[in-house]
Amino acid sequence: MAIKTINGKFVKIENQTDKTKLFTIHLDEEFEFESGQFVNLMFEHDGVKHRKPYSIASSKENKDVIELTINLVEDGRSTPSLFKMNVGDECSIMGPLGLFKLQSDEDLKKEKVALIGTGTGIAPLRSILFELLSDKKDQREIVLLFGTRTPEELLFNKEFERLRDDNPQLKYIKVISRPTDEWFGRAGYVQEHLDCMDLLNSEIYICGRPEMVAGVTEKALLLGADGDCIHSEKYL
Ligand SMILES: Cc1cc2nc3c(=O)[nH]c(=O)nc-3n(C[C@H](O)[C@H](O)[C@H](O)COP(=O)(O)OP(=O)(O)OC[C@H]3O[C@@H](n4cnc5c(N)ncnc54)[C@H](O)[C@@H]3O)c2cc1C
Repeated sequence: MAIKTINGKFVKIENQTDKTKLFTIHLDEEFEFESGQFVNLMFEHDGVKHRKPYSIASSKENKDVIELTINLVEDGRSTPSLFKMNVGDECSIMGPLGLFKLQSDEDLKKEKVALIGTGTGIAPLRSILFELLSDKKDQREIVLLFGTRTPEELLFNKEFERLRDDNPQLKYIKVISRPTDEWFGRAGYVQEHLDCMDLLNSEIYICGRPEMVAGVTEKALLLGADGDCIHSEKYL
């Protein structure tokens, strides 16, 4: 797919947690991408131009609107300005970019799918999940393993629970790294919970901070996963 620069506008900005916002951008032209890919988001604030890569969290079926879930890095160069943008403000995107994408039927080596993400690393996995579930003939087992520090940081939690309830092939597993006494579920880091999936028979998609991607990849390989079936994106 050709890489294009397309102008757009923020049409919705929602607080997902106290540090994460979901930005909905309406695009001036149709935009085609593969589930899992990212865009460079360009915007101007106080006369300063910003440009940063963000994974597309929405379905590739929506061609004139994209959603980005973005974490505020308080001492960062761009996100403090991005968090001051308002509905109606202009921006542009360049894309689609990246090789992290749902494998096509011809490329598939394994019959199951494992999606492993932490924090906003859930973004491209959400887009991939939408595509997997949109094909009603595709009944492959999917395990979504999502790790965050607290339960409040489980982005799209209600939506994933609904998708799990409506799709018997989907298992949704949450892991909390800083649990309180009220948390009775899985605790720790995602790489300590790979027992919940059939790694040897799965195409594995991993997304998040570099240390997490390295940790999960190392553990998956140790447990016998096929290196050719591990696909990952690092938020550098
Ligand atoms: C392919 C790709 C896709 C990405 N997709 C997303 C996405 O969907 N959502 C998203 O929130 N981010 C995503 N990122 C990260 C994003 O591009 C920026 O790095 C991030 O928003 C910080 O930008 P900044 O200018 O505010 O901080 P910078 O000035 O770039 O960074 C300041 C400091 O914060 C650290 N830092 C950078 N990012 C983070 C982070 N996420 N959490 C904690 N510390 C951090 C840096 O290591 C640095 O020390 C992606 C990165 C890549 C490479």
